[in-house]
Amino acid sequence: KITNHLPTAELQAIDAAHHLHPFTTGDELTQKGARIIASAKGIYLKDSEGEEILDAMAGLWCVNIGYGRDELADVAARQMRELPYYNTFFQTSHVPAIALAQKLAELAPGDLNHVFYANGGSDANDTNIRMVRTYWAEKGQPEKKTIISRWNAYHGSTIGGTSLGGMKGMHEQGDLPIPGIEFIEQPNWWAEGGDMDPEDFGLARARELEEKILEIGEDKVAAFIAEPIQGAGGVIVAPDSYWPEIQRICDKYEILLIADEVICGFGRTGNWFGSQTLDIRPDIMTVAKGLSSGYAPIGASIVSDEVAKVLEACEFNHGYTYSGHPVACAVALENLRILEEEGILEHVQNVAAPHLAEKWKSLEDHPMVGEAKIVGLMASIALTPNKETRASFAADAGTVGYITRECCFGNNLIMRHVGDRMIISPPLVITPEEIDILIERARKSLDEAYEKVRDQGLFVEG
Ligand code: PLP
Repeated sequence: KITNHLPTAELQAIDAAHHLHPFTTGDELTQKGARIIASAKGIYLKDSEGEEILDAMAGLWCVNIGYGRDELADVAARQMRELPYYNTFFQTSHVPAIALAQKLAELAPGDLNHVFYANGGSDANDTNIRMVRTYWAEKGQPEKKTIISRWNAYHGSTIGGTSLGGMKGMHEQGDLPIPGIEFIEQPNWWAEGGDMDPEDFGLARARELEEKILEIGEDKVAAFIAEPIQGAGGVIVAPDSYWPEIQRICDKYEILLIADEVICGFGRTGNWFGSQTLDIRPDIMTVAKGLSSGYAPIGASIVSDEVAKVLEACEFNHGYTYSGHPVACAVALENLRILEEEGILEHVQNVAAPHLAEKWKSLEDHPMVGEAKIVGLMASIALTPNKETRASFAADAGTVGYITRECCFGNNLIMRHVGDRMIISPPLVITPEEIDILIERARKSLDEAYEKVRDQGLFVEG
């Protein structure tokens, strides 16, 4: 029988033999073996060797209230006993789905008062593709169906989610994107802004949306989708000029604005939603992850009165077996109660984010760190072999991946990397003392990396 008591090497061997991991090569698993995570509490994971690891990613940007909250386990067990499953197709509903929809409508900005449930962020974005196309078709404009997204965006791993995302490596596998998805460049000043002033660059990148709409024809464009702050692309924070211009363009050409809040939602940026932090007025928001703090799989599209009115006037032939799963809804509701009643957003705004911002910015004095960016409790540093020229490391050297694997992981700190950026997104309940430990481990990892990457011949410009 396989339990946590088996020796780690044995678990790793069985894992490598039978478990296909997402976004992982088989070689990585057979050479090194996966780190087996046995339990977790607060911001710490414990592995099968008993080592404590500081999880500066909150899992995959999702464990907002931290690990080990019994209240969520109790609610899940109670709900499973009372009504483990029922669906909301046709003309049935149940209390967890009703209560959560009401709560989300209360929290969401503007008139985003209607919730369509999914299992996570990817399939909520698939819902959005079908939803915006149906919306325009029902309004007598079936040709208005192209969706514009951004290169280096991440919107999920389903066929729809991958197509909406702008990750070229993902498009190459599976002949994607599907037809009718177009892309503009991302507002990544550090990597792509050259000599331009950041605000001019932000405006120029936003105006690419207008150019793209005019190129395709405004009567053919259904929606623009974007993360308020690009997460998996490397925590890329647009210059201040960017979002007001995007909003103006969407309004002018009647393009539905889909804010993918899968990472930015539920306190990550200090407000309930990133759209509120950046003053964006979306017509649809995608939510998942922090909605249940990852304790149960659930996602949703939260849509405006206008979008809901049109969809309700027809039969929207769409839905998942687990749309509005009662256990997931009950867990999410309890998670929102904890976020609200324990003042966790206020903790982010007044305590954790200011403290982390100060410490995070101080990493810019490290010889390998170019810029340090942070909004709320999502942050990134751009590593560079040359701070003056903002050069990147040679792509095939795998320098930053090596640093996360060998240095951060070695120091019991989970950070992730994307290209040359290293990112964090810790549980929102992190205390100032824990932030100090996080920064101490990050700095130690960077110092070791500075030595090691040169010893290994990885300090090469791309
Ligand atoms: N959208 C964004 C912005 C995400 O960051 C993610 C996941 O990281 C997704 C969608 C996909 O969500 P899921 O993995 O729950 O399908």
